Amino acid sequence: MQENHPAPRTPHPAPLGLYIHIPYCASRCYYCDFNTYRFDAVQAEQYLTGLSQEIDVWAATESVRNRQICSVFFGGGTPSILEASQIHDVLDHCRAAFMLEDGAEISLEANPGTVDLPKLRAMREGGVNRLSFGVQAVQDGLLQRIGRSHGAHEAEQTFWLARTAGFLNINLDLMFGLPGQNLDDWVKSLRWAIRLNPEHLSAYGLILEEGTRLHHEHRAGSLELPDEETEAAMYQMTIELLQGAGFEQYEISNFSQPGFHCRHNLVYWQHQEYLGLGAGAYSFLGGRRFYNELLPANYLRAIRERGTAVAGSEPVSHETLRSERLMLGLRLRAGLDLQTFKEMLGIDDLSASDRVVRLLDDGFLGLKEGRVQITARGLLVANELIVQLL
Ligand code: SF4
Repeated sequence: MQENHPAPRTPHPAPLGLYIHIPYCASRCYYCDFNTYRFDAVQAEQYLTGLSQEIDVWAATESVRNRQICSVFFGGGTPSILEASQIHDVLDHCRAAFMLEDGAEISLEANPGTVDLPKLRAMREGGVNRLSFGVQAVQDGLLQRIGRSHGAHEAEQTFWLARTAGFLNINLDLMFGLPGQNLDDWVKSLRWAIRLNPEHLSAYGLILEEGTRLHHEHRAGSLELPDEETEAAMYQMTIELLQGAGFEQYEISNFSQPGFHCRHNLVYWQHQEYLGLGAGAYSFLGGRRFYNELLPANYLRAIRERGTAVAGSEPVSHETLRSERLMLGLRLRAGLDLQTFKEMLGIDDLSASDRVVRLLDDGFLGLKEGRVQITARGLLVANELIVQLL
């Protein structure tokens, strides 16, 4: 009998990021518009079966089969709501189907209260090497106000359990601009995080997304948000305190200890290609953007009937690529190299753009070692500034 050997793989030079969406949470936070649903163990098990089929289908495609995977990111939703053995199985399947780089970053989003020590240990042994905890604030009243399902004490306990389980790369997510939050509350959250000394910290301002409970409250006039100056002071304080504690701000909202930038997020921010698996996940491959069926039931039906759950795809126009690259590049503190910046704006010389000259003269943009960067002054108005350039 003749044996069928699979064709040898010659790695494609550019690695891929792999995103895996787990669309389940214990409950919905009041600010969240993510593609997530109330956890149900039976549905989750069925979902993972679909995910497993989707892995096989993509792994056999030309655009993926020769690509090294530099990062795997379990996002959601709350991936930590799954059993460790389920995460382990998905990861084993990825290892068998894809070419995972040695030392690939394997991150998992986790919520305090959804993990205990045995589960964390099992996740670590299964290959997860980075945890990202959604903490948001350290005042129980504020956490309740935004619909989080854990308290501050639980967040700290979970952090130390993760350390005990051997996690040496942990991110904490914090949020400012919350209803009822004052500057002092925010400083306490930051100091708490600094005391824990994680490797990475993300600090995002609250955005009132349409359709969320907080958005409804805002429209009804019942939401007490910090004013603009307070929010600016919160952001300023974030930079001051975290930099003072040895964190490097490497993106507008992201800080890390030296050597602990998030590899997976850099895939997005540096406009590299990625494959997204699971309900509603997006992929960026070969100059096209693909998106999956949004609802888990439709996702599973599509996988059963067609083998893939792609609901649509579109080419990414030159114009879109240009503006995304400009926006993402400038959000990074390293900025964009001068040549790329000029290409993105379609100019040969910086002086050819009145907008650029004005932003440089006013000290919002700076030029350092051949790179265009947003200055400390520009950071406070970074989004408006980027919009002006587009
Ligand atoms: S835990 Fe995260 S994904 Fe789930 S509802 Fe809250 S913010 Fe959204």
